[in-house]
Amino acid sequence: MAIIGIDLGTTNSLAAYWKDGQVHLIPDENGNCLVPSAVGCVRTGEKREILVGREAKELVSSKEGEVVLSFKRFMGTEKTYVLGEDSYTPMELSAMLLRKIKGYAEDFLGEQIEEAIITVPAYFNDKQRSNTKKAAQIAGLKADRLINEPSAAALAYQTGRGQEEKSLLVFDFGGGTLDLSYVECFDNVIEIIAVAGDNALGGDDIDGLMAEYFCTQNRLDWEKLAPGMKNKLLEEMEAAKKKLGTEQSVLAELTIEGVSCRAEFDEDRLFDLCMPLFMKIKALFLHVLEDAGHSIADLDDLIMVGGSSRLPVVKRFLTELLGKEPVVVGNTDLVVAMGAGVYSGIRGRKEDIRDILLTDVCPFTLGVESFRRQGDKRGYLLPMIERNSTLPAFRSERLVTLYDYQSRVTVKIYQGEEYYAKDNIYLGEVSVKVEPKKAGKEWIDVSFSYDINGILHVEVVNSRQERSRILLANQELSPAEVERYKQALEALTAPPEEQEKNRRLLKKAEEYYEKSSGERKQWIGSLIGWFLAGINSNRRYKVKKAVEEMERYLALLEEEDGHKEEWLFNGELKEEWDQEKEDE
Ligand code: ADP
Ligand code: MG
Repeated sequence: MAIIGIDLGTTNSLAAYWKDGQVHLIPDENGNCLVPSAVGCVRTGEKREILVGREAKELVSSKEGEVVLSFKRFMGTEKTYVLGEDSYTPMELSAMLLRKIKGYAEDFLGEQIEEAIITVPAYFNDKQRSNTKKAAQIAGLKADRLINEPSAAALAYQTGRGQEEKSLLVFDFGGGTLDLSYVECFDNVIEIIAVAGDNALGGDDIDGLMAEYFCTQNRLDWEKLAPGMKNKLLEEMEAAKKKLGTEQSVLAELTIEGVSCRAEFDEDRLFDLCMPLFMKIKALFLHVLEDAGHSIADLDDLIMVGGSSRLPVVKRFLTELLGKEPVVVGNTDLVVAMGAGVYSGIRGRKEDIRDILLTDVCPFTLGVESFRRQGDKRGYLLPMIERNSTLPAFRSERLVTLYDYQSRVTVKIYQGEEYYAKDNIYLGEVSVKVEPKKAGKEWIDVSFSYDINGILHVEVVNSRQERSRILLANQELSPAEVERYKQALEALTAPPEEQEKNRRLLKKAEEYYEKSSGERKQWIGSLIGWFLAGINSNRRYKVKKAVEEMERYLALLEEEDGHKEEWLFNGELKEEWDQEKEDE
């Protein structure tokens, strides 16, 4: 049973594991480590098939089917994506992706994978984290431990770098998010001191600014472009942006409404265009330093992570801000997964790594709505767990009744930094009965505990010790729910009629198993095991092969039943079987 680390990214995902004192990336059957975070659907006649990863991403250009991308952005929301006749939540799509990763990782490692350390953006809230865990559960993976992406990056960076004391700032600039983490390293401890970020600030915004500039240059109104044209222009801008990493200047061209349009970009132009974003970044930068109680001068290294960190203009801006060059880690795309892989080693208590301790913090304030006096229209947010508290965090507060003869108290839970409770993100509520007395004479104890994975548990107890608790976004799915989701997903990879056929084949093989004995029984047992592994492999080729072979062996077994004395098994069949196992 293996444990692996998975960077479940918005754009790409990848897996890593720990072995022989090192972290290694896990390639798929074609040797690729980066799997596009894409799910698609193709139709051949009546049949519909779901594709995951690279195959799905290829549908974008081939236009032979539908495909959904970037669904992680909407994790934990009600948004659904339509593929064919069905619609899926970001959680279900993530489950398909995780199952794909689990599949090729098992092939590569040659063992079952039971557990995964999954990375999530530091800014993921309770619901987004819970849904990530649920997705793993549906994919057949235990995900007891989630770690924050920038923390994973710090872990990857620091591992094997000795034990010198230093302060790091992880700058994780992705497609749609920016996460900054202030980290202190000493002995074998990697301590996240403070985090700050913006989940609506990323490389996509740069594409947007470039597109607006393109429009201005060509006397077009960005707002008035058709949605399809907007997307096309954004794609064009992204391509031009990436080219600026290696080329002095790039000429972007696109025909819009029959007119051929063009604009030239160079580094200085891009630098100017990005200025509004840089100002926001600077503010966040100062904010995280302030929360950590440090100044720029205290920083030993700034580590650039995420696809947008590859932009030379970003590096230039950071160099100006720091007064020195930031550190660019080898491959900005891989470092988060590598950190998750390192953590999988720690989690697996591998000899050569287990002593490292990684601590993390709560990225936002969590609290309950409270009132200062009777008649207050708007409640304020009473902070229970403050931003950047080290995890796990716990706090209990006693609250008293607000009205005379109040018989019930409802505790409303929010997340955020605003003064009035309602201006923050509402997470849920929990309610408890109280004895009706004069206002202020009856009380309840409210306890918040924010666990190491960033999942919040709230408990309320009244004076009679009656408890009521809420685990905010119901972290676990019930076995029945898991089964239901699993079946729904399975139905996608193999059409129903095929599943029915597989069940029939399996049943038949099991019958043979029951009535056989000795070596023959053992052999049929391993045939069943092999068949199950094949049809559950989530790989079309393997499924097809498992079914074909099972049919063939069953036919032989049937034939064999006719002349029991001379079992084929002892001759031809066994030879063939052995040969096949060898070939694999
Ligand atoms: P996420 O973690 O959000 O999935 P990534 O870290 O993969 O995102 O970053 C994706 C972003 O990085 C996109 O906005 C993409 O345009 C940008 N990007 C990727 N490669 C480059 C590059 N070579 N130069 C500039 N930007 C890049
Ligand atoms: Mg990322």
